[in-house]
Amino acid sequence: MRTQLFIDGGFVDAHAGRTLASIDPATEAVLGMAAAGDKADIDRAVAAAVRAFAGDWRRTTGAQRAVLLRRIAAAIASEREALARLEVQDNGKPLAEAQWDVDDAAACFQFYADLADELDDARSTDIALPDQRFESRARQEPIGPCGLIVPWNYPLLMAAWKVAPALAAGCTAVLKPSEVTPFSAIRLAEICAEAGLPPGVLNVVTGFGHEAGAALVAHPDIRKIAFTGSVPTGQRVMRAAAEGTRPVSLELGGKSAIIVFDDVDIDHAIAWIMFGIFWNQGQVCSATSRLIVERSIAPRLTDRLIEAASAIPIGSGLEPATRLGPLVSREQYGKVLGFIERARNGAALVAGGGRPAHLARGFFLEPTIFADVPVDHEVWIEEIFGPVLAMRTFAAESEAIQLANDSRFGLAAAVLTADTVRADRVAEALDAGIVWINCSQPTFVEAPWGGRKHSGFGRELGRWGLAGYLDVKQITRYRSAAAWDWYRS
Ligand code: NAD
Repeated sequence: MRTQLFIDGGFVDAHAGRTLASIDPATEAVLGMAAAGDKADIDRAVAAAVRAFAGDWRRTTGAQRAVLLRRIAAAIASEREALARLEVQDNGKPLAEAQWDVDDAAACFQFYADLADELDDARSTDIALPDQRFESRARQEPIGPCGLIVPWNYPLLMAAWKVAPALAAGCTAVLKPSEVTPFSAIRLAEICAEAGLPPGVLNVVTGFGHEAGAALVAHPDIRKIAFTGSVPTGQRVMRAAAEGTRPVSLELGGKSAIIVFDDVDIDHAIAWIMFGIFWNQGQVCSATSRLIVERSIAPRLTDRLIEAASAIPIGSGLEPATRLGPLVSREQYGKVLGFIERARNGAALVAGGGRPAHLARGFFLEPTIFADVPVDHEVWIEEIFGPVLAMRTFAAESEAIQLANDSRFGLAAAVLTADTVRADRVAEALDAGIVWINCSQPTFVEAPWGGRKHSGFGRELGRWGLAGYLDVKQITRYRSAAAWDWYRS
């Protein structure tokens, strides 16, 4: 397991020699020590990204970059087991989910390889001008060296969502993974180098957010910042971007609603509700953590939900039967337990609420459900980022929509109903960047991803993800043989 920074094509220690411990959340043992980079390391990494961008990389064709991206995709796929196990040990998630992450990361590089290929033909667009003496075109160019900052809940996948389109566009990058889960990003840099990515094109600086992260977003040579993380940090990042007048994309938190009408198939509904909140231990930005259920089926659905939640196998992510692993860190564990303790006062705890009796060590938490949650209770309002579901009932469709939209977040929402006309009507009324009908959470690299309101702005994935790393230049030519004389014309 590599533990150093990756700068300019090689592994180096943090210049100050400092390290940080990454903890295996299932055992609470130290998984490894990663370099704790700071401003001086960011300066080195950005300088390498600037040199690489000014050199040959920006002049590569999309087809040349596509070859590299496909090699990276293949290398990730061929290392599926090792990468997935590394992710489980660093993050805690069940192995099957980590394997999906690896598959999705490989698919992301493959998808952006195809778009890089297409970019050669789509590079320039002619613009029809009314004045025939001029001709004009819009040329797409890579935006430049980018700062990419990712969180700990999908360490490899969130890195792939940013690195793949950035490289496809012809940008260079400095990637700053979370200090809580640094290792898969370091390995990703090594995979990219082994695939032939030139030195300096992708640099990885592990370190703390307030040091390495803050230095990256403040660096004057960074031309774009792509950030995924919490709302308060996103707001800090945006302030720093404003100082440098730099574009920024923000993928932030959520408190997404799942509306369930009484015409649903209960088994189908239970499966998606459970997946929507307990997948990745609920540490999912788009988790459908607010359940809004039609009053007539609420008692039946609640009983079934409690039964299903109580039966989830909890344990180390490395055990094949596990469906719910530990939370990522002691800090996150304490934060989620704090929400649960406060919610006991004001909401009805109907499932879970504490450490599973059979697990004495590790940051394990039972799947937890609160019913009859008041709309002004923090458990209804705030992102908990843990396996905690808050429930309310509704009587009319308009009430369900109003409850779902009454949030400062707007990342995702889901509606479950057998009535297709109603499903489309509700989907259009929901104020969120992503709406799922009769499902929750499926994510496709082809489709746009991002939120509204405090959930951020800008879109990742699909063509929208690539557009975020491209700038457009207008090139206009005066093609008339006649001399131009503004004074006489
Ligand atoms: P966080 O905001 O604490 O940290 C995110 C990243 O920012 C980390 O790499 C951290 O080191 C860095 N950072 C911290 N302070 C910084 C600063 N001052 N300047 C620059 N960088 C700094 O978030 P987290 O706890 O790692 O992740 C959980 C959050 O991420 C949740 O709110 C979740 O909803 C959100 N998230 C959103 C999406 C999405 O697509 N919308 C996806 C995954 C996670």
